[in-house]
Amino acid sequence: MTDIFHKDFKAAPYWWEEYRPQALPEIDLPNEVRVAIIGAGYAGLSAALELARAGVECLVLDAAEPGFGASTRSGGMVSGGVNVGKRYMSKPMSADEAAPFLNDAADAFSHIENLIAREKIECGWHKRGYFLGAWCKAHFDDMAKKVAVLNKEAQSDSYIVPQDQQRAEIGSDYYRGGMVVERAAHIQPALYFKGLLGLVQKAGVAIAAKTEVTGLAQNSDGSWAVSTPRGMIRAGDVIVATNGYTGGVTPALQRRVVPVGSYIIATDELPADLAASISPRNRSFADTRRVLTYYRLSPDGKRLIFGGRAKFGLTDPITTAPLLYQFMIDRFPQLAGVKITHSWTGNVAFTLDEVPHMGKFENLHYALGCNGSGVAMMSYLGHQTARKILGKVNRICAFDREEFPSHPLYTGSTWFLPYIGYYFRTRDWIDRRWS
Ligand SMILES: Cc1cc2nc3c(=O)[nH]c(=O)nc-3n(C[C@H](O)[C@H](O)[C@H](O)COP(=O)(O)OP(=O)(O)OC[C@H]3O[C@@H](n4cnc5c(N)ncnc54)[C@H](O)[C@@H]3O)c2cc1C
Repeated sequence: MTDIFHKDFKAAPYWWEEYRPQALPEIDLPNEVRVAIIGAGYAGLSAALELARAGVECLVLDAAEPGFGASTRSGGMVSGGVNVGKRYMSKPMSADEAAPFLNDAADAFSHIENLIAREKIECGWHKRGYFLGAWCKAHFDDMAKKVAVLNKEAQSDSYIVPQDQQRAEIGSDYYRGGMVVERAAHIQPALYFKGLLGLVQKAGVAIAAKTEVTGLAQNSDGSWAVSTPRGMIRAGDVIVATNGYTGGVTPALQRRVVPVGSYIIATDELPADLAASISPRNRSFADTRRVLTYYRLSPDGKRLIFGGRAKFGLTDPITTAPLLYQFMIDRFPQLAGVKITHSWTGNVAFTLDEVPHMGKFENLHYALGCNGSGVAMMSYLGHQTARKILGKVNRICAFDREEFPSHPLYTGSTWFLPYIGYYFRTRDWIDRRWS
C-alpha cells in the first residue's frame, strides 16, 4: 500500500508545520537551584510555571529540544475523566473507588480550559465533545451502566447513543453505538506547548535544552546532585516529568512505567463535504477496542488526524502508516484513495494499575504515567506537584498515592509488548464475534 503517500509526505508531526520544537539559546548551568525539573513537556513546564509564579527559582532540563517528547506529537484530544472513566468502565472498580479519580480528572479539564482562556493561548481550542465508539454490544451495555457515575463525578455531560442514531455523531457504521461526552475538546497540541513555553520563559524560568540528566545522587543534607554532561547542579528538590521517555537515571521509576509507541497519520486536505461527513459535529473520537484508535479533524476542519496502536513495540512511522490507513478505511470507507501527508510517533507511558501517578518516591517528586491521555492530565499533575512543593495543597490529589506498582519481571525492557499486541487483537476479535 505505497500509493497512500502524498508526494510531499513527511515522517514528522503535522503539528510541526506551525510550531516545531526548537533549540533554545544555551544557558550557563547554575551551581545551585531550589527545584530542578527533568523533562520539558506539559508536566515539567506546568510545574515550572506554578513554581516561578510563586517566586521559587527552578531550572528545567531536557535531553532534547523542549517539546520533543510527546507534548508536540499528540492527537490533541482533551478529556477530563474519560481516560480514567475508561479504566472504570473496563475493570471491576466500584463507583465509590472511582469517584476521587474522576473528581480530579474533571479538575484536570478545568485546569487546562482555564489556563488556555486566562492566558489567551491560541491553540485551536474547540470544545466540541467526544464520541466513544462501542466495539461490541457488551461494551455498549457497559457504557450505559456507567454514564450516571461519569456525569456525577466527572461532570462529563455524557449520554448514550444507540447504534441506529450514531450517524448523527460519526459518518460511520463501524460501531455498535457509543457514548457522547460533551465536556471534551480538541486543540493543536504543539501550539498549546508553544503557549506554555512562552509563559514559562516570561516567568523567568531557566531552561537547559539538549541537556540530559545522566545521574542523580542524594546529598547528606537531603538535597540532590544532578549530573549532566555540562556539569553538576545542586537542587533542593527534583521533579521527574519524563513520562514515556523515563530512563535509567531513575531506575525505580523506570520499573513503574512502560513506554508504548502511539502512531498518527494526517490526511491531505479533504473536500468540505467529505470532512463534514466524517465528523458532522466536529467531535473527537476514540473506541473501546483494545487495539484502540483515536481521531479528530484538524483545527481548520480540513484534514483527518487519525491515531492508534498500529504496533505495540516502538517502531518507525513509515512502517505503521499503511496499518493506520487500513484502520481508517475500515471506519470510513469513503476516504479510500485519500493521500496522507504526515505520519509520526511518540511515546506514552502506561502504569501497571492503568492510572496516572504523582508523588514522592525515594525523595524524588514525580508526575508520570499518562496511560495514553495526558494533554489535560500531565499539565494538571505537573501543576499539582508544584503546589505540593509550595505547601499550597488543601487536599491530597487522588493521583498522589503511596502505592505505585512495579512487577518483579519488568525492569524497563519492553520485549513483551508485541505479545500483548497479539493478545489484544485476539481478544478484540472474540469480543466482536461473541457479543
Ligand atoms: C502519538 C501520541 C498521541 C497522543 N494523543 C493524545 C491525545 O489525543 N490526548 C491526550 O490527552 N494525550 C495524548 N497523548 C499523550 C500526551 O501527549 C502525553 O501524555 C503528554 O504530552 C505527556 O507530557 P509530559 O510532559 O508528561 O511528557 P513528554 O512531553 O513526553 O516530555 C518528557 C520529556 O522528558 C525528557 N527526558 C526524558 N529523560 C530525560 C533525562 N534523563 N534528562 C532530561 N530530559 C529527559 C524527554 O526528552 C521529553 O522531552 C498522545 C501521545 C502520543 C505520543
